[in-house]
Amino acid sequence: MTSGSRREILGGLGAGLALAGIGVPRAFGATRKIGYAVVGLGSYATRQIMPNFAQCEQARLVALVSGTPAKLDQYGAEYGIPRTHRYSYADFDRIRNNPDIDAVYVILPNSLHAEYAIRAAKAGKHVMCEKPMATSVAECEAMISACRVAGTKLMIGYRSRFEPYNRLAIELSRGGHVGPTRLVTAEHGFSIKPGQWRLDRPLAGGGSMMDIGIYSLNAARYLTGEEPVEVSAIESTDRSDPRFRTVEDRISFLLRFPSGIEANCISSYSSAHNSYRVIGTRGWIAMDPATPYVGQAMTIRKDDVSAPRTLPAPANNQFAGQLDHLAECILTGATPIVPGEEGLADMRVIEAIYRSAAERAHVSLAT
Ligand code: NAD
Repeated sequence: MTSGSRREILGGLGAGLALAGIGVPRAFGATRKIGYAVVGLGSYATRQIMPNFAQCEQARLVALVSGTPAKLDQYGAEYGIPRTHRYSYADFDRIRNNPDIDAVYVILPNSLHAEYAIRAAKAGKHVMCEKPMATSVAECEAMISACRVAGTKLMIGYRSRFEPYNRLAIELSRGGHVGPTRLVTAEHGFSIKPGQWRLDRPLAGGGSMMDIGIYSLNAARYLTGEEPVEVSAIESTDRSDPRFRTVEDRISFLLRFPSGIEANCISSYSSAHNSYRVIGTRGWIAMDPATPYVGQAMTIRKDDVSAPRTLPAPANNQFAGQLDHLAECILTGATPIVPGEEGLADMRVIEAIYRSAAERAHVSLAT
């Protein structure tokens, strides 16, 4: 897609989104591209994030960090990253002395997010961190504090907030397009393969909820624009399945929001789900699939008439949109639309979900 067509789609959406108070700051035309160091050269980094720097208007890949020298050689050569800009985890802190690096993108197993985000902030670099932001509320708070002290920005990789169908769903849902919202349903899951860090609690921090259920939770929060005040959850895990020795499989959870909206959500590591539905008094807005890398589909039913809703193709590249957004915030001084506080808000609810499931009790989140 050309940068012009991407800008048009975002610009068109922007008018309505600005009214909803969820607009994205723009700094196109700035003279300098923001330089990113990617930390962790695993699947998501190498297949989704690094190739999409080519689509960015304000961001570029300038450095790589990995524990595997062969990966540094391979991707360094592929992306034209000089040896001086390739780092191991041990010498990561030397990024402080590299003025080409403005921001660090942490794409490591969950339990390493806090350490590398904090080290990046201490090196004076802005931080993009993958979801889940960390593995506990305490870690999230430490990351926010480190970036505040360093005066650097902190953004969480909630890519769906840069995807046009999800942005439209937010606008329609919060704007009452199908009448005031009464209920949200959100389901995310996949059948996980054995033998990976996601199934190792010390590295993952938890099971499906930390990894994929967070999409259901985050959608319920962004579609309503509210923070849940009460949580109720049940967990179903077959502990004889070798995949689930240390982490949970399925969690079904119910969120109650201040306006009276309820969200009915699923998180699963043993069945495939990727959808949500906003149900209002006059119909519903359905996204199925809702949050894949490509191919979102929306159907709206209003006053007893159902119709698909399509946006002009090609759809915006959510990965480039996300990378450009932090760059724009750095250039303009704006706060990212998904700052550290957004990751912290999810983590507070995740901890309450785990507590509710463990204690078989409703948990209040009201302050
Ligand atoms: P992955 O296993 O493919 O990559 C993880 C990388 O971390 C590997 O390169 C591995 O070598 C490195 N690593 C460093 N220290 C490690 C250690 N002690 N143990 C294991 N690996 C170690 O995982 P991934 O799918 O790329 O996920 C990385 C992060 O990105 C996770 O936080 C995940 O939640 C997130 N993610 C986000 C999305 C999204 O759509 N936003 C999609 C996939 C993954």
